[in-house]
Amino acid sequence: MISGTFRCFVAVAAMLAATVALSRPFFDPRAEKRVALDVDPAFMAQPRDPACQAAQLVSTGGPAPRHPHTLAVRWAGYSNFELAYGGKIILLDAYFDRGSNYPPLGFAARDVRRADVILIGHGHFDHMSDAASVGIRTGATIVGASLTTDKLAAQEVPAAQMRTVTGRGGELLRFDGFSVEPILARHGQPDPQVTTVLEGALAALSAEPGAAQEAEERAIRARGVSDPRVIAEGTIAYLITLDSGFRIMYRDSGGRVTDQEKAAMARAGGVDLALVAVTAEYLMPLTARQALEHMRLYKPEVYMPAHHDAPIGGRRSLWRATEPLFQALKDDNPNLVTVSRGYREPVCFNTDANVAHGHP
Ligand SMILES: [Zn+2]
Repeated sequence: MISGTFRCFVAVAAMLAATVALSRPFFDPRAEKRVALDVDPAFMAQPRDPACQAAQLVSTGGPAPRHPHTLAVRWAGYSNFELAYGGKIILLDAYFDRGSNYPPLGFAARDVRRADVILIGHGHFDHMSDAASVGIRTGATIVGASLTTDKLAAQEVPAAQMRTVTGRGGELLRFDGFSVEPILARHGQPDPQVTTVLEGALAALSAEPGAAQEAEERAIRARGVSDPRVIAEGTIAYLITLDSGFRIMYRDSGGRVTDQEKAAMARAGGVDLALVAVTAEYLMPLTARQALEHMRLYKPEVYMPAHHDAPIGGRRSLWRATEPLFQALKDDNPNLVTVSRGYREPVCFNTDANVAHGHP
Protein backbone atom coordinates (compact mmCIF):
# COMPACT_ATOMS: atom_id res chain seq x y z
CA MET A 1 0.00 0.00 0.00
CA ILE A 2 1.40 3.42 -0.98
CA SER A 3 1.42 5.87 1.91
CA GLY A 4 -0.32 9.23 1.67
CA THR A 5 3.01 11.02 2.20
CA PHE A 6 4.60 9.15 -0.71
CA ARG A 7 1.63 9.88 -2.96
CA CYS A 8 1.93 13.55 -2.03
CA PHE A 9 5.66 13.46 -2.83
CA VAL A 10 4.98 11.89 -6.23
CA ALA A 11 2.38 14.56 -7.00
CA VAL A 12 4.74 17.41 -6.04
CA ALA A 13 7.59 15.87 -8.06
CA ALA A 14 5.31 15.55 -11.08
CA MET A 15 4.22 19.17 -10.68
CA LEU A 16 7.82 20.34 -10.43
CA ALA A 17 8.74 18.37 -13.54
CA ALA A 18 5.79 19.91 -15.37
CA THR A 19 6.81 23.41 -14.22
CA VAL A 20 10.36 22.85 -15.39
CA ALA A 21 9.14 21.51 -18.72
CA LEU A 22 6.92 24.56 -19.17
CA SER A 23 9.60 27.03 -18.21
CA ARG A 24 12.49 25.87 -20.37
CA PRO A 25 13.59 28.67 -22.73
CA PHE A 26 12.63 26.70 -25.87
CA PHE A 27 12.40 23.17 -27.22
CA ASP A 28 15.65 22.09 -28.89
CA PRO A 29 14.62 19.52 -31.54
CA ARG A 30 17.54 17.30 -30.51
CA ALA A 31 15.74 16.70 -27.21
CA GLU A 32 13.50 14.27 -29.16
CA LYS A 33 16.42 11.85 -29.12
CA ARG A 34 18.57 13.19 -26.28
CA VAL A 35 16.79 13.51 -22.95
CA ALA A 36 19.99 14.99 -21.46
CA LEU A 37 19.26 18.27 -23.19
CA ASP A 38 16.10 18.77 -21.16
CA VAL A 39 17.68 18.09 -17.79
CA ASP A 40 20.70 20.39 -18.20
CA PRO A 41 20.14 22.75 -15.23
CA ALA A 42 21.99 25.67 -16.85
CA PHE A 43 19.70 25.42 -19.87
CA MET A 44 16.51 24.90 -17.87
CA ALA A 45 17.33 27.88 -15.64
CA GLN A 46 17.16 30.25 -18.59
CA PRO A 47 13.91 32.22 -18.96
CA ARG A 48 11.54 31.55 -21.83
CA ASP A 49 13.04 33.16 -24.94
CA PRO A 50 10.66 35.20 -27.14
CA ALA A 51 13.21 34.89 -29.99
CA CYS A 52 12.29 31.21 -30.12
CA GLN A 53 8.56 31.86 -30.44
CA ALA A 54 8.17 34.94 -32.64
CA ALA A 55 7.41 34.25 -36.30
CA GLN A 56 9.46 37.23 -37.37
CA LEU A 57 12.99 37.33 -38.70
CA VAL A 58 15.47 39.09 -36.44
CA SER A 59 16.71 40.94 -39.53
CA THR A 60 13.24 42.48 -39.95
CA GLY A 61 12.99 43.57 -36.31
CA GLY A 62 12.12 40.36 -34.44
CA PRO A 63 13.71 39.63 -31.05
CA ALA A 64 17.27 38.25 -31.03
CA PRO A 65 18.07 35.20 -28.86
CA ARG A 66 18.75 36.17 -25.25
CA HIS A 67 21.52 33.69 -24.52
CA PRO A 68 24.71 34.17 -26.57
CA HIS A 69 24.85 30.44 -27.37
CA THR A 70 21.24 30.09 -28.52
CA LEU A 71 20.95 29.68 -32.28
CA ALA A 72 17.62 30.64 -33.86
CA VAL A 73 17.05 29.28 -37.37
CA ARG A 74 14.22 30.50 -39.57
CA TRP A 75 13.29 29.25 -43.02
CA ALA A 76 12.08 31.98 -45.37
CA GLY A 77 11.02 30.09 -48.49
CA TYR A 78 13.07 28.28 -51.13
CA SER A 79 16.63 27.99 -49.76
CA ASN A 80 16.48 31.17 -47.67
CA PHE A 81 17.34 30.84 -44.00
CA GLU A 82 18.20 33.29 -41.26
CA LEU A 83 20.62 32.27 -38.53
CA ALA A 84 20.62 34.50 -35.45
CA TYR A 85 23.42 33.76 -33.02
CA GLY A 86 25.65 35.67 -30.61
CA GLY A 87 24.16 39.05 -31.59
CA LYS A 88 24.90 38.38 -35.26
CA ILE A 89 22.64 37.66 -38.24
CA ILE A 90 23.66 35.39 -41.10
CA LEU A 91 21.39 35.20 -44.14
CA LEU A 92 21.65 32.14 -46.35
CA ASP A 93 20.51 33.09 -49.88
CA ALA A 94 18.39 36.18 -50.51
CA TYR A 95 15.27 35.68 -52.63
CA PHE A 96 12.43 37.39 -50.81
CA ASP A 97 10.42 39.41 -53.34
CA ARG A 98 9.36 36.37 -55.31
CA GLY A 99 6.41 37.97 -57.08
CA SER A 100 2.63 37.70 -56.90
CA ASN A 101 2.66 34.08 -58.11
CA TYR A 102 4.16 32.82 -54.82
CA PRO A 103 2.76 32.21 -51.34
CA PRO A 104 3.54 35.34 -49.29
CA LEU A 105 6.57 35.14 -47.01
CA GLY A 106 5.12 37.72 -44.61
CA PHE A 107 7.85 40.28 -45.24
CA ALA A 108 9.53 41.99 -48.18
CA ALA A 109 13.18 42.47 -49.08
CA ARG A 110 12.90 46.13 -48.02
CA ASP A 111 11.97 44.99 -44.47
CA VAL A 112 15.37 43.30 -44.04
CA ARG A 113 17.30 46.02 -42.25
CA ARG A 114 19.97 44.10 -40.34
CA ALA A 115 22.39 41.43 -41.49
CA ASP A 116 26.08 40.85 -40.86
CA VAL A 117 26.89 38.19 -43.44
CA ILE A 118 25.01 36.91 -46.51
CA LEU A 119 26.13 33.57 -47.93
CA ILE A 120 24.87 32.92 -51.46
CA GLY A 121 24.89 29.26 -52.51
CA HIS A 122 24.62 30.02 -56.21
CA GLY A 123 23.64 32.83 -58.52
CA HIS A 124 20.33 31.69 -60.02
CA PHE A 125 17.70 34.38 -59.46
CA ASP A 126 15.75 32.24 -57.01
CA HIS A 127 18.76 32.34 -54.67
CA MET A 128 20.17 35.85 -55.03
CA SER A 129 17.65 38.28 -56.57
CA ASP A 130 17.53 40.41 -53.39
CA ALA A 131 21.17 39.99 -52.32
CA ALA A 132 22.29 43.29 -53.85
CA SER A 133 19.55 45.48 -52.35
CA VAL A 134 19.71 43.82 -48.92
CA GLY A 135 23.50 43.85 -48.96
CA ILE A 136 23.71 47.54 -49.85
CA ARG A 137 21.12 48.53 -47.20
CA THR A 138 22.62 46.44 -44.38
CA GLY A 139 26.30 46.68 -45.30
CA ALA A 140 26.57 42.91 -44.78
CA THR A 141 29.55 41.01 -46.16
CA ILE A 142 28.31 38.94 -49.12
CA VAL A 143 30.05 35.67 -49.96
CA GLY A 144 29.68 33.78 -53.23
CA ALA A 145 31.37 32.26 -56.26
CA SER A 146 32.70 34.69 -58.87
CA LEU A 147 29.63 34.17 -61.08
CA THR A 148 27.59 35.43 -58.11
CA THR A 149 29.77 38.33 -56.99
CA ASP A 150 30.24 39.53 -60.61
CA LYS A 151 26.46 39.81 -60.83
CA LEU A 152 26.38 41.70 -57.50
CA ALA A 153 29.08 44.07 -58.71
CA ALA A 154 26.90 44.80 -61.76
CA GLN A 155 24.16 45.77 -59.28
CA GLU A 156 26.50 48.25 -57.58
CA VAL A 157 27.50 46.28 -54.53
CA PRO A 158 30.90 47.72 -53.48
CA ALA A 159 33.81 45.32 -54.06
CA ALA A 160 35.02 45.83 -50.47
CA GLN A 161 31.77 44.30 -49.22
CA MET A 162 32.15 41.02 -51.11
CA ARG A 163 34.24 37.88 -50.70
CA THR A 164 34.64 35.84 -53.86
CA VAL A 165 35.35 32.16 -53.21
CA THR A 166 35.97 29.04 -55.29
CA GLY A 167 35.32 26.41 -52.63
CA ARG A 168 38.49 24.59 -53.64
CA GLY A 169 40.16 24.89 -50.21
CA GLY A 170 42.21 27.33 -48.15
CA GLU A 171 39.44 29.94 -47.95
CA LEU A 172 38.30 29.77 -44.31
CA LEU A 173 36.47 33.02 -43.54
CA ARG A 174 36.56 34.18 -39.93
CA PHE A 175 33.87 36.44 -38.52
CA ASP A 176 33.09 37.63 -35.00
CA GLY A 177 31.56 34.54 -33.33
CA PHE A 178 31.71 32.07 -36.22
CA SER A 179 33.74 30.88 -39.19
CA VAL A 180 32.67 29.80 -42.67
CA GLU A 181 34.34 27.26 -44.93
CA PRO A 182 33.20 27.54 -48.57
CA ILE A 183 33.15 24.17 -50.32
CA LEU A 184 32.66 23.65 -54.05
CA ALA A 185 29.35 21.80 -54.48
CA ARG A 186 27.36 20.99 -57.58
CA HIS A 187 24.02 22.25 -58.77
CA GLY A 188 21.15 19.80 -59.15
CA GLN A 189 20.69 18.27 -62.59
CA PRO A 190 17.25 16.69 -62.41
CA ASP A 191 16.28 13.99 -64.87
CA PRO A 192 14.70 15.98 -67.76
CA GLN A 193 12.26 13.15 -68.45
CA VAL A 194 10.75 13.66 -64.99
CA THR A 195 10.73 17.45 -64.98
CA THR A 196 9.40 17.76 -68.53
CA VAL A 197 6.46 15.46 -67.85
CA LEU A 198 5.60 16.92 -64.45
CA GLU A 199 6.10 20.56 -65.31
CA GLY A 200 4.16 20.10 -68.56
CA ALA A 201 1.27 18.57 -66.63
CA LEU A 202 1.31 21.40 -64.07
CA ALA A 203 1.40 24.04 -66.79
CA ALA A 204 -1.55 22.36 -68.54
CA LEU A 205 -3.58 22.61 -65.32
CA SER A 206 -2.78 26.29 -64.69
CA ALA A 207 -3.95 29.53 -66.18
CA GLU A 208 -1.55 31.22 -68.59
CA PRO A 209 0.42 33.98 -66.84
CA GLY A 210 -0.76 37.46 -67.80
CA ALA A 211 1.49 40.12 -69.29
CA ALA A 212 1.88 41.88 -65.93
CA GLN A 213 2.99 38.67 -64.21
CA GLU A 214 5.47 37.91 -66.99
CA ALA A 215 6.97 41.39 -66.70
CA GLU A 216 7.24 41.00 -62.93
CA GLU A 217 9.05 37.66 -63.32
CA ARG A 218 11.40 39.05 -65.96
CA ALA A 219 12.49 41.82 -63.60
CA ILE A 220 13.18 39.33 -60.79
CA ARG A 221 15.04 36.93 -63.11
CA ALA A 222 17.24 39.78 -64.33
CA ARG A 223 18.76 40.07 -60.86
CA GLY A 224 20.21 36.56 -61.06
CA VAL A 225 22.74 34.66 -63.16
CA SER A 226 21.81 32.34 -66.01
CA ASP A 227 25.09 30.78 -67.04
CA PRO A 228 25.67 27.04 -67.51
CA ARG A 229 28.87 27.32 -65.44
CA VAL A 230 26.71 27.72 -62.31
CA ILE A 231 26.34 23.92 -62.25
CA ALA A 232 29.98 22.94 -61.83
CA GLU A 233 31.74 26.18 -60.78
CA GLY A 234 29.16 28.47 -59.24
CA THR A 235 27.51 26.38 -56.53
CA ILE A 236 29.05 26.65 -53.08
CA ALA A 237 28.17 24.71 -49.92
CA TYR A 238 29.05 26.40 -46.63
CA LEU A 239 30.25 24.69 -43.47
CA ILE A 240 29.54 27.17 -40.67
CA THR A 241 31.17 26.63 -37.28
CA LEU A 242 29.89 28.69 -34.37
CA ASP A 243 32.27 29.64 -31.55
CA SER A 244 30.41 27.18 -29.31
CA GLY A 245 31.50 24.36 -31.65
CA PHE A 246 28.07 23.86 -33.24
CA ARG A 247 28.37 23.05 -36.96
CA ILE A 248 25.93 23.73 -39.77
CA MET A 249 26.15 22.49 -43.36
CA TYR A 250 24.24 24.65 -45.83
CA ARG A 251 23.69 23.50 -49.41
CA ASP A 252 21.14 25.35 -51.52
CA SER A 253 20.87 22.98 -54.49
CA GLY A 254 20.17 19.25 -54.62
CA GLY A 255 23.08 18.10 -56.79
CA ARG A 256 25.50 15.21 -56.42
CA VAL A 257 28.19 15.53 -53.74
CA THR A 258 31.65 16.59 -54.90
CA ASP A 259 35.19 15.48 -54.04
CA GLN A 260 35.61 18.82 -52.19
CA GLU A 261 32.59 18.04 -50.02
CA LYS A 262 33.92 14.55 -49.31
CA ALA A 263 37.30 15.97 -48.29
CA ALA A 264 35.73 18.62 -46.04
CA MET A 265 33.50 16.07 -44.33
CA ALA A 266 36.39 13.64 -43.88
CA ARG A 267 37.96 16.40 -41.74
CA ALA A 268 34.78 17.56 -39.98
CA GLY A 269 33.33 14.10 -39.32
CA GLY A 270 29.74 15.30 -39.08
CA VAL A 271 27.58 18.33 -38.38
CA ASP A 272 24.91 19.23 -35.87
CA LEU A 273 22.49 20.70 -38.40
CA ALA A 274 22.12 20.25 -42.16
CA LEU A 275 20.09 22.79 -44.16
CA VAL A 276 19.92 21.13 -47.56
CA ALA A 277 17.81 21.67 -50.69
CA VAL A 278 15.53 18.91 -51.85
CA THR A 279 16.35 17.92 -55.41
CA ALA A 280 13.97 19.06 -58.16
CA GLU A 281 12.90 15.59 -59.28
CA TYR A 282 9.68 15.58 -57.22
CA LEU A 283 9.30 11.77 -57.16
CA MET A 284 10.09 10.27 -53.78
CA PRO A 285 12.54 7.55 -54.89
CA LEU A 286 14.57 10.22 -56.70
CA THR A 287 14.46 12.93 -54.01
CA ALA A 288 15.23 10.32 -51.34
CA ARG A 289 18.18 8.91 -53.30
CA GLN A 290 19.81 12.35 -53.46
CA ALA A 291 19.00 13.26 -49.85
CA LEU A 292 20.50 9.94 -48.69
CA GLU A 293 23.75 10.79 -50.44
CA HIS A 294 23.80 14.19 -48.69
CA MET A 295 22.89 12.88 -45.22
CA ARG A 296 25.31 9.94 -45.34
CA LEU A 297 28.10 12.41 -46.07
CA TYR A 298 27.16 15.28 -43.72
CA LYS A 299 26.02 13.00 -40.86
CA PRO A 300 23.79 15.65 -39.27
CA GLU A 301 21.96 15.25 -36.02
CA VAL A 302 19.13 17.43 -37.34
CA TYR A 303 18.01 17.91 -40.95
CA MET A 304 15.88 20.82 -42.14
CA PRO A 305 14.90 20.68 -45.81
CA ALA A 306 15.03 23.63 -48.21
CA HIS A 307 13.74 24.51 -51.67
CA HIS A 308 10.57 22.44 -51.22
CA ASP A 309 7.97 25.18 -51.61
CA ALA A 310 6.59 26.36 -54.93
CA PRO A 311 4.71 29.03 -56.86
CA ILE A 312 0.93 29.08 -56.74
CA GLY A 313 0.41 28.27 -60.43
CA GLY A 314 2.36 27.42 -63.55
CA ARG A 315 5.09 24.96 -64.48
CA ARG A 316 6.75 24.49 -61.10
CA SER A 317 3.74 24.84 -58.82
CA LEU A 318 4.21 21.63 -56.84
CA TRP A 319 5.74 21.52 -53.36
CA ARG A 320 8.27 18.74 -53.01
CA ALA A 321 6.99 16.29 -50.42
CA THR A 322 9.13 16.15 -47.28
CA GLU A 323 7.44 13.41 -45.21
CA PRO A 324 8.36 10.53 -47.57
CA LEU A 325 11.87 11.96 -47.72
CA PHE A 326 12.07 12.11 -43.92
CA GLN A 327 10.83 8.52 -43.69
CA ALA A 328 13.48 7.24 -46.13
CA LEU A 329 16.20 9.11 -44.21
CA LYS A 330 15.00 7.77 -40.85
CA ASP A 331 14.82 4.23 -42.23
CA ASP A 332 18.51 4.72 -43.05
CA ASN A 333 19.40 6.49 -39.77
CA PRO A 334 16.87 6.14 -36.92
CA ASN A 335 18.76 8.76 -34.88
CA LEU A 336 18.15 11.54 -37.40
CA VAL A 337 15.84 14.35 -36.26
CA THR A 338 13.92 15.97 -39.12
CA VAL A 339 12.36 19.42 -38.76
CA SER A 340 10.24 21.34 -41.23
CA ARG A 341 8.44 24.52 -40.17
CA GLY A 342 6.42 27.21 -41.86
CA TYR A 343 7.84 30.46 -43.15
CA ARG A 344 9.59 32.50 -40.40
CA GLU A 345 8.83 30.04 -37.59
CA PRO A 346 11.86 29.68 -35.32
CA VAL A 347 13.77 26.52 -34.53
CA CYS A 348 16.18 27.09 -31.64
CA PHE A 349 19.26 25.15 -30.61
CA ASN A 350 21.14 25.21 -27.33
CA THR A 351 24.55 25.12 -28.97
CA ASP A 352 26.31 24.52 -25.65
CA ALA A 353 25.08 20.94 -26.11
CA ASN A 354 26.72 19.74 -29.28
CA VAL A 355 30.02 18.03 -30.06
CA ALA A 356 30.75 17.71 -26.34
CA HIS A 357 27.73 15.42 -26.05
CA GLY A 358 29.02 12.61 -28.17
CA HIS A 359 28.60 13.86 -31.71
CA PRO A 360 31.21 12.27 -34.00
ZN1 LIG B 1 19.58 26.96 -59.23
